Amino acid sequence: MKAIRVNATLACAAVVSVGLTATHASPGAAQRAGAPQSQSVDIRVLPVQGFNTTRMYMLVGAGGNIAVQIGEEGVLMVDTGSAAASGAVLAAIRTLTDKPIRYIINTHAHPDHVGGNEAIVKASGGQRTDVGGGNGGPVNPDGVILVAHQNTVDRMLSPPRGQMPYPEFAVAGSSFFTADKQLHFNGEAVEMWWHPRAHTNSDILVYFPRSDIIVAGDLLQTETYPGFDAGAGGRLQGMLNGLNQIIDLAVPQFNQVGGTRIVPGHGRLCTESDVVELRDMATIVRDRVQYMIGKNMTLEQVKAARPTADYDPVYATTTGMGTTDRFIEAVYTDLKKPWNGPGPAAKSGLNFIDGGR
Ligand SMILES: [Zn+2]
Repeated sequence: MKAIRVNATLACAAVVSVGLTATHASPGAAQRAGAPQSQSVDIRVLPVQGFNTTRMYMLVGAGGNIAVQIGEEGVLMVDTGSAAASGAVLAAIRTLTDKPIRYIINTHAHPDHVGGNEAIVKASGGQRTDVGGGNGGPVNPDGVILVAHQNTVDRMLSPPRGQMPYPEFAVAGSSFFTADKQLHFNGEAVEMWWHPRAHTNSDILVYFPRSDIIVAGDLLQTETYPGFDAGAGGRLQGMLNGLNQIIDLAVPQFNQVGGTRIVPGHGRLCTESDVVELRDMATIVRDRVQYMIGKNMTLEQVKAARPTADYDPVYATTTGMGTTDRFIEAVYTDLKKPWNGPGPAAKSGLNFIDGGR
């Protein structure tokens, strides 16, 4: 697969103002609050796969990864990256097509995934409104439809203390609060499942069955330990359930490779076997820490016992949520809390199995 590289210099007043702080490693986090908006952002465009005239791409370098589906009807984006990268993201999409952006799906509310909404919705003529008046404003049939779980909307409009809310036009007008949602675009179904207690309380998996691509958001991170935002309702078991659903959906082509491609929130493009490896690692660490909790070990004793020792060379980072200490602390704290099941997603999720206790 060939990667195109786009360099774009941002000089865009539209992307100032969002003051949310990332709760895990986010290259965009430090840039959002700062006034200067002139910097070089390097976006890599990776063609993934598709069918007929519909193609899908993975954009890397904007904070969280972005998935883009392009076809006869226009452009659909899953996540928009950080605010600071939005000019470069738009430039990268324009190297692929001049068709309008018609859909943006947000996987969750972290600013390295939704920070680009503001500039990209503006550049796409605002949000689509079919009915005028009231909160809908004027009729705007040519705008972009912005889709997210209602918890993402709530978090963006009412962020934790000390963080600035996003403007209403950059927050999904087409939100849902059910276990799943479906739409049809560019000749294929697009299916979304809500994982209410996973990386946050609002994660959705997005599945493109004809392109054979799953967009995982931060339910899947390939280069660090699985980070979950406990302050936003994140739970380790929900992360594992999300990985298990990806494994259920994905079909390898040959010898456990090829076939379904999975776009992670951070890191490299995956096939099913990559996800199995990550799921197994997280499950093994969970079981080790659970065993130690069963032995009444304190957090300090668990850390000293090094339950991640064999995985640290691969997944431990030196900063942020992914350090060994912080990950063990997060897992320990999480496992001390009761698990009340995966929530309503289990009722309609495809082959959804709660691996919880
Ligand atoms: Zn996140």
